[in-house]
Amino acid sequence: MRGAERMNRLKNFLKKDKQMIRISAAVFLLFVLVLVFICLAYYSLLRDTVSSETRDYLTETSAQTESGITRIINDNFRRTGAIDSILKNAVNVSTFAGIGKMLGTLKENWGYNDITIVASEDDYMHSYHSSQDGDRGTSIAHIPNDSPLKNLTEAQKLYIDQDTQGIQRVNFARVIEPVEVEGKKVNIISLSYSLDTFYTVIDTKLYEGKAYTHIINKDGTLLVQGTKENVDKWGANFLTSLIGDEESEASVKMLSDIAEDKAGIVVLDFNDAERYVSYRPVTGAEDWYMVTVVPASVLNYKTEVLMQLTIVFCIFVIAVMVLLLILLLISFYKSRKKYESFAFVDPVTGGATLQKFYIDAAESLKKSNGKKAVVYTNIEKFKVTNEQYGMETGNALLKGMSTGIRSCLAEDESLGRIMADHFAILLNYYNEEKLVERFHNWHGAIMTELTNRDVSMFFPTLQLGVYVVDEENMSLPFMLDRAKLAMNEKTNILNNKMSYSLYDENAHIRLLREKQLEDCMDKALAEGQFEVYFQPKYNTVTKKIGSAEALSRWSGHAYGMVYPDEFIPLFEKNGFIIQLDLWVFREVCKLIRRWMDEGKEPVPISVNCSRRNLKHPHFIDNYVKILNQYDIPARYIEIELTESILYEDAEALVAMIDELHNIGFTCSIDDFGSGYSSLSMIQGIPVDVLKLDKIFFKNSLVDNRRGVSVIEAIIRMAKSLQMKTVAEGVELSEQVRMLEEVGCDFIQGFIFSKPVPLGDFEKLAFPDDAQDMKKENRN
Ligand code: C2E
Ligand code: CA
Ligand code: CA
Repeated sequence: MRGAERMNRLKNFLKKDKQMIRISAAVFLLFVLVLVFICLAYYSLLRDTVSSETRDYLTETSAQTESGITRIINDNFRRTGAIDSILKNAVNVSTFAGIGKMLGTLKENWGYNDITIVASEDDYMHSYHSSQDGDRGTSIAHIPNDSPLKNLTEAQKLYIDQDTQGIQRVNFARVIEPVEVEGKKVNIISLSYSLDTFYTVIDTKLYEGKAYTHIINKDGTLLVQGTKENVDKWGANFLTSLIGDEESEASVKMLSDIAEDKAGIVVLDFNDAERYVSYRPVTGAEDWYMVTVVPASVLNYKTEVLMQLTIVFCIFVIAVMVLLLILLLISFYKSRKKYESFAFVDPVTGGATLQKFYIDAAESLKKSNGKKAVVYTNIEKFKVTNEQYGMETGNALLKGMSTGIRSCLAEDESLGRIMADHFAILLNYYNEEKLVERFHNWHGAIMTELTNRDVSMFFPTLQLGVYVVDEENMSLPFMLDRAKLAMNEKTNILNNKMSYSLYDENAHIRLLREKQLEDCMDKALAEGQFEVYFQPKYNTVTKKIGSAEALSRWSGHAYGMVYPDEFIPLFEKNGFIIQLDLWVFREVCKLIRRWMDEGKEPVPISVNCSRRNLKHPHFIDNYVKILNQYDIPARYIEIELTESILYEDAEALVAMIDELHNIGFTCSIDDFGSGYSSLSMIQGIPVDVLKLDKIFFKNSLVDNRRGVSVIEAIIRMAKSLQMKTVAEGVELSEQVRMLEEVGCDFIQGFIFSKPVPLGDFEKLAFPDDAQDMKKENRN
């Protein structure tokens, strides 16, 4: 399960990685959004502030300009007042010539075009002027009918007209208390002035000279053009030109403001560009308006500069962030790469690790729908190889193995090193034949690799366990477990250099069961879950029980009765048989002790002795200790040694039997005939009893003369070697007859009795006791 755990940890790590990237990307995006939002908000705030500031500024400059205009108007009217008082108070003004002299001087001093005095009732008009060429002079004329001086009713009048040369001029007229001059009643003074007067105030260089101010009539007639530069083209009427074809909210407001003599600022589209238009009635000149036009671009300039700065700042911040993020990602990917190479590249072979295998294999399992197989490898006695040739050669062997096998794999197949000499491989599986062919190829490729690497060594056997995937949903570590289980079976040997085995479900179940039994055997023995059964051996001559065999039973197990067929091979494998045999021996000693104490003649009992004991150094000592503890004569006990013990070291076996004999035990060879041992093999083995295996009595002997002859020969030979014979597994009476005929000494078989619990056995072994008991009961 450690593999699965590690895989999960790795998966989690990679998942966390992705999550981190996602989170940082989201945070970054959020940051950019917030930044853009702040910029926009800042921009709009800026715009509003600048716009209201601009309006204020524009209003202020307009007001200043207007006050300049008003000042000029007032000054001029004041001068008409001054002329009035001169006319009234001066002494030499009784003649026009006298007046003319005086006014001529004033005109010079003040720089007027004309000063005109008018006797309006008499329809006379005296003008004092200088002509263009510098001539000074006076003229007397009738008041033209279209002159505003005609029937002037207001006290003051400002109007514009043209001089004789058609040059526009502005006039400031004042109605005065009539003054009599040469019999005429002069009652109007009018000063004519060049329009240039106003330029000084309206031709300002405000807004970098891109703005201009005009003085217009309320009806839109242009009176004074502020400047020649940067002026928008206009048609006959300035206001209608300004408004253009389309009526907008702003233009409506402007017109209604002007109608009501109000000042204001609007933004208009004029000549295809936005303009700020500030309009103000001119105080002191009814009907006059001054209009200042500023291109919006000039006013927005400040905002735009600030905005550009903001944008540049934003871009800068974002760029820095992006740069930081990129740096972060680079270092992140680098460390990830490092981690991956650490986690995914096996340092010994340069190939994939188990983690990498898990990821690759899971992917190809998910992708392809063909049959797959998982292979688990093992180099037999790799540890020895390492010790013999050194670590370096061992590593070279692993490298060769990894590269060799990898070179034989398809794209969707994968290999990873689990640990030491164990590799995990995922393969496409077609059939066993093909698989074996591939194993041969692998072997060839490994050998080539080793030769290329100059690894000179004796290549050990390669063990391969194969699990053909039949449960797709099983996790890879489980699949590997199964392949590993199969590997230990080594059922198919290939060319002496490889063995392989396919995973088999039943074997797996068996293994699981074995594991269960193994887990509780110690406890079971300590807690008395084992029991000894006894199977009598009948003497063919006396027809009575001659002895019995002690056979163990595991009864108190949670899964019910467990039979020796199942647990004995397991205990043989794991060595627990030594403890069990010793325990049975002790039980048997206890029993014989009791029988002796009860004054009975003990029935000799045989105990099974695993061949494993032969290799156990204190085996005989332990037996003797128990024997002495219960103070039992050894002759009551027979030690059964199974036939396969004959394949062991004969010398050691003989020595052991001799030792057993010295102690006083009887020895027998059990299961004779079940294996490959021949009659000649037992000749040198000094045992006392030969137990014929039950295999001889599996079939009826009626038509089996050959079988009978073999049995006869064995018994005859045993007799010649002074051995007693026991026939095991006898179930039929014809077999009993035959055995009696050929002189077999004992019969142990179901025909007489199965192995039975002690109580039942005692009833069979000591029938007289049972009789006595009955009698006692009756009495
Ligand atoms: P085994 O030593 O050959 O024991 C005789 C087996 O043959 C017993 O099986 C017995 O029940 C069976 N048998 C006897 N007569 C007949 C018959 O007429 N027909 C058939 N079909 N079978 C018969 P069991 O008790 O199941 O024991 C099986 C094997 O387990 C034994 O074979 C023995 O090798 C081993 N074993 C049992 N208990 C122990 C023990 O405590 N220690 C050791 N080392 N081995 C034991
Ligand atoms: Ca036996
Ligand atoms: Ca036997």
